[in-house]
Amino acid sequence: MNKFEQVLIEYLESKHKFAQMVLWNDEKLGLEGSIIIDDTTLGPGLGGTRWCAYPTRTEALVDNSRLARDMTYKLALALGEDSELVKAGVSFGGGKAVLRGEPTQDKGKRKEQLHAYAALVDSIGGRFVTSIDVGTSVDDVITMREVTRWVMGLPQEMGGSGDPSPVTAMGVVWGLKACLEAVYDTASFKDRTIAIQGIAGKVGATLARTLAAEGAIIVGCDIHDAAAQEIAREIGAKLVPPDEIYEQKCDVFSANAFGGVLNDDTIPRLRCRIVAGAANNQLWEPLRHAAMLQERGILHAPEFWINGGGVINVAHEFHPEGYSQERALADVRRIYDRGKEMIEISHKEKMPLYMATIRLAEDRIRRAKAEAKPAN
Ligand code: NAD
Repeated sequence: MNKFEQVLIEYLESKHKFAQMVLWNDEKLGLEGSIIIDDTTLGPGLGGTRWCAYPTRTEALVDNSRLARDMTYKLALALGEDSELVKAGVSFGGGKAVLRGEPTQDKGKRKEQLHAYAALVDSIGGRFVTSIDVGTSVDDVITMREVTRWVMGLPQEMGGSGDPSPVTAMGVVWGLKACLEAVYDTASFKDRTIAIQGIAGKVGATLARTLAAEGAIIVGCDIHDAAAQEIAREIGAKLVPPDEIYEQKCDVFSANAFGGVLNDDTIPRLRCRIVAGAANNQLWEPLRHAAMLQERGILHAPEFWINGGGVINVAHEFHPEGYSQERALADVRRIYDRGKEMIEISHKEKMPLYMATIRLAEDRIRRAKAEAKPAN
């Protein structure tokens, strides 16, 4: 048995079962990938399509499964029972798709590949709804929309919700306020030092601008040097080399670049009280590293709670009355309320916020399952 088969068997026999898993290969077009619908208790699986050069199929599949599970949690928390969308009868479960390979640059070939992939999404009949992620763009959404209606995130001028990144950043700001209150008894950013990894990115730049406007002192880093310099000049931020960002003395370390940044090497170097940013899969080994941060007295905001702003925005395209930014932003603001609730559970139960967050999401799914059962 090869490693790929081993991974598949491990998943199929584990306690947690996916709602649906599709492995796909189009030899003629040179594209392969997978769609994992993790859980549909709350509704169709919603999640972006990531297009990335994974070295092996196993890595692509493992990443897909983790990301799909995170989407289940993210949507259970982001669209709680008090959400504007859920009150209108719309909610979502978690899913994610991964296309394996270097994203094609040739426009004609890319279109052909995306049409073929969109036909696959369409064949699932709305049980999976997708959008933008790493390696895919708004233009790709427009291309896929020619084949399937089950892709969201069109530009606002085409009736969609537009780029989710600024809204993701806004959600991080709301989540940060809940964290600051828990640690410092005030939600004010005035004179708080925030270290932003990925300051030139779509989320990082908006976050830096917003926090600077609220009086925070920004320290940042990015491998995209010119863009980082530009934003640093604009908001008066200090830049440090990427590897030095972890040991900056600050109130908040905010990861907004890539996953796996909280690990055995980086956690001991942190000199902050809060870790909160938009990057997905921040903890290298989730349970162990969440506990390690807790032991160091650092409050870690789980990303599937704090980076839910973008997906809330996209999900609002499904509102029966059409997309309204006002309604979507009202739900993004609830990231703060949810945070307060989870932080209280984590204090009361003396458990890392990561565990409290998972517990809250699982409770919601369990309640929905119980309600869906026919009465005897
Ligand atoms: P992006 O590609 O626009 O930004 C990432 C930034 O990180 C880039 O400027 C890049 O140069 C920088 N970077 C890469 N490697 C680095 C390193 N070693 N050190 C410092 N900087 C580095 O991506 P984004 O859309 O802003 O997303 C950022 C993170 O947030 C990603 O992990 C993404 O999965 C997650 N996220 C994004 C959204 C969204 O709406 N965009 C939503 C949820 C989660």
